[in-house]
Amino acid sequence: MTDKPSIHRPRIPGGHWQNVDLLAYKQVGSAPFRDVTRQVLFDDPALGCELRYFEVAAGGHSTLERHEHVHAVMILRGHGRCLVGEEVFAVAEQDLIHIPGMTWHQFRAAEDAALGFLCMVNSTRDRPRLPSEEDLALLRRQPDVAYFIRT
Ligand code: MN
Repeated sequence: MTDKPSIHRPRIPGGHWQNVDLLAYKQVGSAPFRDVTRQVLFDDPALGCELRYFEVAAGGHSTLERHEHVHAVMILRGHGRCLVGEEVFAVAEQDLIHIPGMTWHQFRAAEDAALGFLCMVNSTRDRPRLPSEEDLALLRRQPDVAYFIRT
């Protein structure tokens, strides 16, 4: 997005907005994920935070990761499930999800529907960390978590 976003950016059907670039979720090969796009909706430095929109295609998933910064998430479109800490939740439109710092998290779209969500973060934030084999072993002690996570 440019430094000076236009005041009004109408919605374009299909999970897009005028003058908002459709970006890759992450650099391919930098972390495991499947079929995720990223759009930065608000990032004026005066805010101190950014509002992004991520869309996970049907059957896709975000990276299993954790970091010091917090995520404030609102599901905008579709449905799916997410892992936060050691719990897996079914999530649907307009649900709110708070992801505390240093908490493992991953989003998965349903097999038959995309999952689109808003995600607010601090402008200045640490880089996401991926789980080690030891972290994965700990997570996998819980059968529902073991079944859910994708790496
Ligand atoms: Mn994250």
